[in-house]
Amino acid sequence: MHGYDLLVVGSANADLVVGVDRRPAAGETVLGSDLAIHPGGKGANQAAAAARLGARTTLLARVGDDAYGRLLAQAQRTAGAETAGLLEGKDAPTGVALITVDSAGDNSIVVAQGANARLTPDDVAGARPLFEAAAVVSLQLEIPLETVAAAARTAAETSARVVLNPSPPAPLPEDVLALCDPLVVNEHEARRMLDQHAHDPGRHTPGGAQDGAASAEPQEPEEWATALLGIGPRSVVVTLGAEGALVAGPDGMTRVPSPRVEAVDTTGAGDAFTGALAMRLGRGDTLEQAVRYAVRVGSYTVTRAGAQESYPSAAELEKAVT
Ligand code: ADP
Repeated sequence: MHGYDLLVVGSANADLVVGVDRRPAAGETVLGSDLAIHPGGKGANQAAAAARLGARTTLLARVGDDAYGRLLAQAQRTAGAETAGLLEGKDAPTGVALITVDSAGDNSIVVAQGANARLTPDDVAGARPLFEAAAVVSLQLEIPLETVAAAARTAAETSARVVLNPSPPAPLPEDVLALCDPLVVNEHEARRMLDQHAHDPGRHTPGGAQDGAASAEPQEPEEWATALLGIGPRSVVVTLGAEGALVAGPDGMTRVPSPRVEAVDTTGAGDAFTGALAMRLGRGDTLEQAVRYAVRVGSYTVTRAGAQESYPSAAELEKAVT
């Protein structure tokens, strides 16, 4: 019996959101809506999603000694996550995402990483008891890559299962990729990961391309999944927005459709999906069972505004989705 279903190691940001009719050009000033401030960051979102659903969850992340750091800690507690691993430092402010949303609903985002860039392999070593207590460790790439690698390797040492969402996409060390079970990607991340690995001569070519022949770029999710399995992870989950998700592993591939819903705001849907997936794996589900649950959670969140504010409790999920 593990003390935690899930340990999330990753980012915590304050999302500062302003609505604009259109984005300013260089040198231009436009007036926007009132500022809205929300808890965000992929790590914090995943942990909040899992905790809201009732999982025993903790987050290893860094914030500054400031109001946004306190907002993020409070949001974790409100969701039901433990905050022993939420480290506060005086040397850098809490990470901030500056988000403008135009009248078409399109986002532009600038991230000031702040304290997220200070989460180090030493922090991972210091948090080893959290790893020892966790069934699953979930990782994303909004913190230094060396810290992600240290977390994956520590998870392997403590026999925790590694779930990794390579966002924003970056090349991963082969031993880290080999621990991912699953690698969770959306369409954009799938393409970027394959592209990065195809252009890195130190790695094997995905998709079993012939020597000397230019490999045709995969077009279908099944082809991406096959190619992604070719770069090393134990299993792959491709999220497909309104279409749900694709699960791929050594035993084959399955498409898991999403419930049909009226999408209002997809912000943070992928993080809720991955948090839910990881926590169900921590509770002993098979990968396919966990994905079936995660698509229900993902589809619920898009029917409501915001990221963490849109995440359901287990009871809300039961009521809303058949
Ligand atoms: P990301 O948010 O990372 O871009 P996706 O768009 O693939 O990833 O969405 C992640 C998950 O959220 C999907 O697998 C699905 O469960 C849910 N989802 C996203 N968009 C919709 C939608 N329009 N209708 C229903 N579910 C959705």
